[in-house]
Amino acid sequence: MDECIFCKIVAGQMPAIKVYEDDRVLAFLDINPRNPGHTLVIPKKHAETILDLSEKDSGELFERVRKIASSAKESMKADGISIIQNNYRAAGQVVGHVYFHVIPRFESEGPASPESVLLVKKMPEEVLNKIAETIKANTSRSPVQPKETRPEGEARPKKKPSDEFDF
Ligand code: 5GP
Ligand code: ZN
Repeated sequence: MDECIFCKIVAGQMPAIKVYEDDRVLAFLDINPRNPGHTLVIPKKHAETILDLSEKDSGELFERVRKIASSAKESMKADGISIIQNNYRAAGQVVGHVYFHVIPRFESEGPASPESVLLVKKMPEEVLNKIAETIKANTSRSPVQPKETRPEGEARPKKKPSDEFDF
């Protein structure tokens, strides 16, 4: 797929800040992050939409999405995580290579559904690199904890992402 920008990122012909890579899947920071840690997870082999993937390949891809969602949430000290996946232009897909958005979400944003519009936050390169290093380190740790391990009733320390990652 000569003109596909995500295939070019996979091939190393275009730059991207990578947070995870294996033989089939690549995850990198979105160029227009809606929140710190906003990551795109893609199959390395070109496919236009989720419907163009086999059951096995989409299952494997979603297993990686779950892994990145867990490490991005932990790394960004997020309160929640949105996983957004659009197919075809009518659904808002612009890049013609299947991708999942993994977006850390914060109570400080106020009540917000995954469909709500998130504003682009400009972040300097050194902040992006720091974010990527944190996610990368947490992604390589295993296993993914299926549940919150914080004892019941113990309050999560309130912290805005901008306190941790200067943007
Ligand atoms: P959408 O189809 O949702 O408009 O675009 C997919 C997402 O890919 C967008 O959030 C956009 O910011 C991101 N994106 C588009 N081009 C690039 C790129 O060249 N590099 C990176 N890292 N992200 C991109
Ligand atoms: Zn492609």
